[in-house]
Amino acid sequence: MATPDQYPLSKEFKAQVLPYPPKQSEMHIQPFSDLSTYKAAGKLQGKTAIITGGATGIGRAISIAFVKEGAEITIVYNSNDEDADETKRLCEANGGKCLIIKTDVSEAENCRQIVAQTLAEYGKLDILVNNAAYQMSQKSLEEITEEQLTRTFRTNIFGYFFMAQAALPHLQKGSVIINTGSIVGKTGIPILIDYSATKGAVHAFTKSLALNLGERGIRVNCVIPGPVWTPNITATMPPEEINNYGHETVFSRPGQPEELAPMYVMLASDDSSFMTGSLIEITGGKLSSDS
Ligand code: NAD
Repeated sequence: MATPDQYPLSKEFKAQVLPYPPKQSEMHIQPFSDLSTYKAAGKLQGKTAIITGGATGIGRAISIAFVKEGAEITIVYNSNDEDADETKRLCEANGGKCLIIKTDVSEAENCRQIVAQTLAEYGKLDILVNNAAYQMSQKSLEEITEEQLTRTFRTNIFGYFFMAQAALPHLQKGSVIINTGSIVGKTGIPILIDYSATKGAVHAFTKSLALNLGERGIRVNCVIPGPVWTPNITATMPPEEINNYGHETVFSRPGQPEELAPMYVMLASDDSSFMTGSLIEITGGKLSSDS
């Protein structure tokens, strides 16, 4: 983990537009995601986790943090084998076990397969991190095609439902579900109308599922990132948004994936045993209007 003064400032970000799906390995400014100086304490020893979207960006940092804390993990991705292989390599270099599964979480059967393969590999499941997402910026409502709308909703909210439904029969008291939301699900954003609607849905899904699963002792929480430097940004946002990325935060820089991962560790561990239904903003002070 770098020290905060080592993270690049917004003014250092120039538009680098990558084709979708982007490769993390091709980013000019590499995201900080290896938590190299993070001090682990065995908080997830003996736990098994599934992390969707675990190959890149925020998901890669979560994967590495979980392994450092002693968890065995499955990561799910849908493109760029090279990035997934690199995440697996980094996890194994940290002494962990990492099963990689390439599939599409927007189909319920695929989600059941992810859980089945994880059980076959590790024999149990304790933690589900719903983190995979799709977004593509458009200037107007008219430009959002039915195909894009369907893909955004099927990945970002149907996928979270399907994964939770597939995992639930195997979760027990003390298990956790962590969803990744977004600050734009609270504030709105003119160029991601469909995406921000799915993230608002993720926030409400988190609260309702937490209330529903409380009696079973399963906790459900949500991390709400602000601007974070990940491959997704370079391939889905217009160049004018990538230039000077994260300038609106208090620190005049975007967050780095490894700055979010420790919160996922906390939510996955007993350290957060009195937390459920919580929406945790990690936004560098880019505040939602209603919080
Ligand atoms: P990313 O592009 O690095 O990661 C997205 C991952 O999702 C990739 O590994 C990709 O393979 C996977 N994925 C996408 N569609 C999939 C599908 N249908 N099936 C299986 N896997 C699929 O992006 P990121 O920025 O790290 O995003 C992680 C999460 O953080 C997302 O939920 C995103 O909405 C959220 N988020 C990011 C930011 C930001 O500024 N980067 C801000 C707010 C919220």
